[in-house]
Amino acid sequence: MTAPRIEFDLHKIHHNARILVKRLAPKGISVTGVTKATLGSPEIAGAMLRAGVRTLGDSRIHNIETMRDASIITSMMLLRSPMISEASQVVRHADLSCNTEISVIKALSIAALKARKTHEIILMVELGDLREGIMPDALLNTVEEAQRLPNIIIKGIGANLACRCGVTPDCRNMAELSDLADTIEASLGMTLEMVSGGNSANLQWALSGVETRRINDLRLGESILLGLETLHRQPISGLYTDAITVTGEVIESKIKPSQPWGKIAQTAFGETETIGDRGLISQSLLAMGRQEVDPDGLRPPPGVKILGASSDHLILEVAHHEHPVGSEVSFQPNYSTILYAMTSPFVMKCYH
Ligand SMILES: *Cc1c(COP(=O)(O)O)cnc(C)c1O
Repeated sequence: MTAPRIEFDLHKIHHNARILVKRLAPKGISVTGVTKATLGSPEIAGAMLRAGVRTLGDSRIHNIETMRDASIITSMMLLRSPMISEASQVVRHADLSCNTEISVIKALSIAALKARKTHEIILMVELGDLREGIMPDALLNTVEEAQRLPNIIIKGIGANLACRCGVTPDCRNMAELSDLADTIEASLGMTLEMVSGGNSANLQWALSGVETRRINDLRLGESILLGLETLHRQPISGLYTDAITVTGEVIESKIKPSQPWGKIAQTAFGETETIGDRGLISQSLLAMGRQEVDPDGLRPPPGVKILGASSDHLILEVAHHEHPVGSEVSFQPNYSTILYAMTSPFVMKCYH
């Protein structure tokens, strides 16, 4: 088979999505399936939809177009605030988008009017992680302003935590989001259909048995793909953590000294490293490097250790004679490596 490649087990991804949909349903929380790590793969989107995911979310309009081109007709949410320059594409392809700036919402309104469409928006609120979001005390004003714009429908509010600063979703910040929803409805006499509480980092809070109140949507990507909660990257019970593998091919396999010789300066990537002497080792070179994977985001199989990486190579220490030239080594990727592999033209994408 072609190497390097990334392989997705659609049965396992479907299972993970189905279990999460099932566990959240009794709390009145629906799942928006996030496809951005797979560049809007129609195969992954299909597996999520068959599992009961009702909305698909992606951070890039390009990926949403990919799914539309594959005839996926479900509701699609643009997760990253649109660029003003892409407003017309956004209203054409996405049903709803997450927003924080009134100037962007105005551009969406103009584009929607022109396209004779309505566009739904979720207003994102800053709850402390300091990435996107309207400051809570400015939210009511923004809702009022957006309400007046033609062809824009305010579908709800949302928040995103644990991405930039690792701020943990908890009873306090989730109650703040619920309170804000109540306040907006009471003050403006409107109904907010969706209160989207966050991402995979919200699962522990949502499933801990606490009152989830107004939160009725979570946007889940990594937990579906990798079966991990994302606060401590622990496996979620009943989910597969091995649905995705990345594989490279051995192009050199030799017994070599463990310690380099000569005068030591910087490496290709500006690092300086002191490597001790452990005698002779069995070293294999893989034709897969930083143009394909994040070397820190790979879990090797037992008996294999990653010693280093350059643009085009991974350097492995292996058990003697275990990985001859022409053989393959498979790894479990973290989220970062999935991004590298999916965006690399050198990695074949396989869905089983
Ligand atoms: C990427 C993203 C998600 C999904 O995050 P996971 O940790 O993969 O579940 C949810 N919401 C927003 C706004 C995102 O950008």
